[in-house]
Amino acid sequence: MNILVVNAGSSSLKYQLIDTDTDTLYAKGICERIGMDGSLIEHKQIAKGLKVKKESPMKDHADAMKLVVDHLTDPEVGCISGMDEIQAIGHRVVHGGAYFSESILMTEDVLKKIELCRDFAPLHTDAHLMGIRGCLEIMPGKPQALVFDTAFHQTMKPESYVYPLPYEYYEKYGIRRYGMHGTSHRYVSGQMAALLNKPVEDTKIVTCHIGNGSSITAVKSGKVVDTSMGFTPLAGVEMGTRCGDIDPAIIPYLMERENLSPAEINNVMNKKSGFLGVTGFSSDSRDLEDAIAAGPSDPNYERALLAYGILRNELKKYIGSYAALMNGLDAVVFTAGIGENSIMLRQMVCEDMEWMGIELDEEANKKAFRTSDSTKISKDSSKVTVYVIPTNEELVIAKDTAALVAAK
Ligand code: AMP
Repeated sequence: MNILVVNAGSSSLKYQLIDTDTDTLYAKGICERIGMDGSLIEHKQIAKGLKVKKESPMKDHADAMKLVVDHLTDPEVGCISGMDEIQAIGHRVVHGGAYFSESILMTEDVLKKIELCRDFAPLHTDAHLMGIRGCLEIMPGKPQALVFDTAFHQTMKPESYVYPLPYEYYEKYGIRRYGMHGTSHRYVSGQMAALLNKPVEDTKIVTCHIGNGSSITAVKSGKVVDTSMGFTPLAGVEMGTRCGDIDPAIIPYLMERENLSPAEINNVMNKKSGFLGVTGFSSDSRDLEDAIAAGPSDPNYERALLAYGILRNELKKYIGSYAALMNGLDAVVFTAGIGENSIMLRQMVCEDMEWMGIELDEEANKKAFRTSDSTKISKDSSKVTVYVIPTNEELVIAKDTAALVAAK
């Protein structure tokens, strides 16, 4: 089945056309600056190795979808002859609150529930709704499925998702841990479980999705028992520009001292913290690694090392605490931009972990870089298996969509 996977952001729309019978990616691309001057589309036709990038006016997400369909069906750069060759559309949706524990076909009732989650992720939710409505306008009648970043985490028990605040806030406002990156954690933990060669029920896995945004998840018997992101994607470990967990008392303290409004302190924690905040020069892990590799003579060396050291310690603590929570550990998985590519960070996290059965194979670790294959980076003697597994959220979205359409 040919599924168009859509990831709509507020001013961007990413897409992939995937054949779920053969797991073939036909085309992918991104529309940027939607609703602004200078909007453009970048489209790649995989089989022919063609790439086009051109400016094209897009006043809204419906215009963007029209342009996507035009490119997919274009005789030169396209890969299908008409819209009828797209069987369904699968959307990434960041927040499904406590309403959705699995993917679902779009109905008006489903859209109403998504709107009720709007407060948890306003920018993302508005963007997704624009993407869905854009598809409805351009491809009316085409089935649309929604795949939620929060869904995989819905197996957490209350002791993992309820915050120790007055219980009425949980009841009144739905303040609880939801978790994010669920589609990625589900994919890589599923791949890892298959590699472990034992029944899923017997598996205990920690998945480390480390990219610009990062989250760590404990997956026992194929189900999430805990995850580092919380009510919002600000929680957990240090990220590119987000602070992750800090003492909550710092927030009112800083608001008073720096005379910051709630929106301003939110901006500090989301956009000016993490790698960027600590180093003062970059949110990109590659820049940090370059400064560390340059050595103490580099003016950015100390702070880059500090930023990486903070993340290393946090990752070690999550892995250790999740192993304690699951009463054991079979495997650790690294994924996403940094997890898949940073030889340095993986080495820092896995060293001095022999006590808990993690023995890194340094040579294998060095080879796991920009590869589309799953790579074992622990020694054969390591009690805990460590893998780098490239994530593929789009494939999960396409497969869920195909399964929902087939079952209709
Ligand atoms: P993501 O959010 O998953 O796209 O990941 C983005 C992050 O991955 C950025 O901080 C990039 O610097 C990082 N990244 C990409 N390639 C590399 C690399 N070769 N080494 C270290 N970090 C990388």
